[in-house]
Amino acid sequence: MNLQDHIRAVPDFPKPGVLFRDITPLLANPLAWAQTVEQLAAAVETWQPDYIVGIESRGFILAAPVAAALGAGLVLVRKPQKLPCAVYQQDYALEYGTDSLEIHQDCFSGKPSGRVVILDDVIATGGTAQAAAQLVTQAGGTLVGFCFLIELSFLAGQQQLAMGIPVKSLVTY
Ligand code: AMP
Repeated sequence: MNLQDHIRAVPDFPKPGVLFRDITPLLANPLAWAQTVEQLAAAVETWQPDYIVGIESRGFILAAPVAAALGAGLVLVRKPQKLPCAVYQQDYALEYGTDSLEIHQDCFSGKPSGRVVILDDVIATGGTAQAAAQLVTQAGGTLVGFCFLIELSFLAGQQQLAMGIPVKSLVTY
């Protein structure tokens, strides 16, 4: 099955000039969705992760079933003011201005220096994934890989990511 057939391109969303890659048709198709989880789990399994980190909010949808399939823990990287306990915070650049992400300081306490994979729906410029990588390191995790459903390779996001950490993407544009 070609997962790309179930990803919809929406011009000028959320603003003019952006071609938004909409995964809702893929999520709604039982076969495509099952295949997506299977392929993500197979891609990540070789890194033998103790934890899968999902980035709010579409990253959560993908990270949760992959973590369960692999018997790994699920850790959430969230937008500010969402996590209730002590957090580390990381600012990162957007096209206009900055944004922040947070992680619970004790998220890896069950397995200190556990092996961690960051999973998200899309890597565009790479700023979001790299901010998540810095949070994982701050919280004491050992980052062993990045995995994305979709990579927008023309934005060269991989160049923003932590040097030497492997990257896998299922669909590349
Ligand atoms: P970036 O930090 O530039 O790599 O952006 C990655 C985040 O923005 C991901 O979490 C995506 O959900 C979202 N994103 C960026 N560009 C797109 C796009 N063209 N289509 C869908 N989502 C996008």
